[in-house]
Amino acid sequence: MLCSISNALRYLTLRHVSRPVNTQLLHTIMRTMTSKAKATPTPVETHRVVRDGQEFTEVREGLARILNPVSAKSDAQKNSKGDEEVQKVFYNPIQQFNRDLTVLAIKAYGEDVIAKRKKFNENKMNKKRKRTTEGDERPQKQGKPVIGGGEVPEAVYGAANPVDATAMDTTEDNVDAVCDDAKDKKKPETHSTGTAEEPSEQATGTTNTEEQPQDGTHQRKPLPPPFTILDALSATGLRALRYVQELPFVTSVTANDLTPSAVEAIKRNAQHNGVESKINATQSDARAHMYSLISEEVAREHEANPKRFRRAPPSKKYDVIDLDPYGTAATFFDAAVHAVRDDGGLLCVTCTDSGVWASHGYSEKAFALYGGIPVKGFHSHEAGLRLIINALATSAARHGLAIEPLLSLSIDYYVRIFVRVKKSPASVKFLAGKTMIVYSCDQGCGAWETQMLLRNRKVPNNKGSGMFYKHGLSMGPTSDQFCQHCGSKMHLSGPMYAGPLHSADFIKSILDELPNASKEVYGTTTRIAGMLNTALEEMCLPPPPDNTPKHQDDELAALEPYPFYFHPSYLAGAIHCECPDEDSFRGALRGLGYEVTRSHCKPGSIKTNAPWSVIWHVMREWIRQKAPVREDKLKENSAAFRLLRLGDRSASEERSKVKVDSEVDKLEVVFNKGLGQDKSKKGLVRYQMNPKENWGPLSKAKGH
Ligand SMILES: [Zn+2]
Repeated sequence: MLCSISNALRYLTLRHVSRPVNTQLLHTIMRTMTSKAKATPTPVETHRVVRDGQEFTEVREGLARILNPVSAKSDAQKNSKGDEEVQKVFYNPIQQFNRDLTVLAIKAYGEDVIAKRKKFNENKMNKKRKRTTEGDERPQKQGKPVIGGGEVPEAVYGAANPVDATAMDTTEDNVDAVCDDAKDKKKPETHSTGTAEEPSEQATGTTNTEEQPQDGTHQRKPLPPPFTILDALSATGLRALRYVQELPFVTSVTANDLTPSAVEAIKRNAQHNGVESKINATQSDARAHMYSLISEEVAREHEANPKRFRRAPPSKKYDVIDLDPYGTAATFFDAAVHAVRDDGGLLCVTCTDSGVWASHGYSEKAFALYGGIPVKGFHSHEAGLRLIINALATSAARHGLAIEPLLSLSIDYYVRIFVRVKKSPASVKFLAGKTMIVYSCDQGCGAWETQMLLRNRKVPNNKGSGMFYKHGLSMGPTSDQFCQHCGSKMHLSGPMYAGPLHSADFIKSILDELPNASKEVYGTTTRIAGMLNTALEEMCLPPPPDNTPKHQDDELAALEPYPFYFHPSYLAGAIHCECPDEDSFRGALRGLGYEVTRSHCKPGSIKTNAPWSVIWHVMREWIRQKAPVREDKLKENSAAFRLLRLGDRSASEERSKVKVDSEVDKLEVVFNKGLGQDKSKKGLVRYQMNPKENWGPLSKAKGH
């Protein structure tokens, strides 16, 4: 019993707190919609405050307020108009979109997880009551309990966190004992911010576990289910401050930074916001902090002894880990997949090094960091997202962990990716078949082809009673060395992730709650709505027909059927013609029976299920019908010359390997503007123009 108490106390120390968020205030704010919609972040409110005899500038964002010493060094820059523009290292207002989006994404994720855990606990309690009523005093069976006769989903009852659900069951005897034990040890409240190793007394939740009614009866107040977040590279603690104040279900946030001055700032800001009981400020290398959980996991599993019905102490893995570094987050991937819950924990990843993953300038560096070669061309940012997701997926796969991208956005100069992590060696088997090489005509017409590293195929089992997925080899290159449309060189990129970039359900859950978010707190909701709606529309292209019987693993094998996008101006540039307007081009493809949407990555992008042979046929028809070109000006061996099928046709085909599809050439193309318009979603702010001149990542903070 003593062991059980001490283990549970450790659990409470790290996961529960004494001061609840003012949920009523939060609720009021979330429901308040008073300000006019704005496409740009809410202007940052700043003013001077004096604290402990020192003067600070206070900056407000969301419900958080952060203090910056007035003496802090600033990077003064001159913009093109000559006005002095001061960008302080400690706060970048451009990233408010990232932070607003992350708070709302964690809210959608967390509420879903909490609801599932609550349902699981209720079912468990009902069974316990039923047994008690029936007089059945036999001990519970070990192993996973069941809900409704079926196996409990891993998201509810995880492989590596088998005791968390029971630990949060506040009616369990051991937790009650801990409450009593903790109450006895209660000390006067202090304002020091605890650390992971030495949590403050406030962080134990001892003052929030019980209440004494005036009638003298003794009632226990349920503990909130634990929900912990790691802000791994916290700097001033702004994200951590927003999480604990804007997400009522969050019980603890660990705000970690490498530098003593940052940790000092985190503690100061936590006190300034009155949330020091919920924030554990730790000074450590983020990787060291995350890897430290491995040894704790080993010890935890060692303490568990199923034969003696002995429970392991609760896992300290985080529900959510936020990686928001300056530059690449790739160096943190391996540690992060170890430290996040493996029953569906959430990783939030930012990478700002677009010069590496979205260009050909540093291909060798991109391979070193992300294990793949970037794509050159208009669609390079989606390829960058896929490279980074592949790096995450392979880091996780080494440990039997599978990732599921929930939302993957290319935003301005960086990417923000939300993935769910789950222990599932069976799912990991599908990864190679969801990883692709890309062949790109990056010097000619911009066409691409893709090829999976393995093939996930459904085949009949030996008994003939059903199907199973086989992970077979792929054949040689699907592309020639030269482009089949223009004869230019094809270049190789990848390997990169080939599955869906988003979960439609996850995006919808954020969008559903968006109207309830106060525009005063979340200044970027207009842009969030535009970008998420566009991301959702990316997923509307119908997959190719599949005549095989449905299988339970179909979702695991799912590929993005039509990755990437192009811009009509890129095509027009390849054949030196006037650029078709977006509506006419979309109308032409739709008139031929193809679906057309757009990518959130780039304004003006066209994403379609039409093959490149059809796309180039449409462009040839555009020239013939609408925008003739001076053919005599085109060089004989140029891509434009071949794309327009000029000169001696048979000789041209032989020389350049250009293939001609005579059936496609017969298609009648009509440039119907009306058919190309999307009237239903007018008014959405799909893409943001640069908010101000000379903007982008700020100077790298010292010590990072
Ligand atoms: Zn080409």
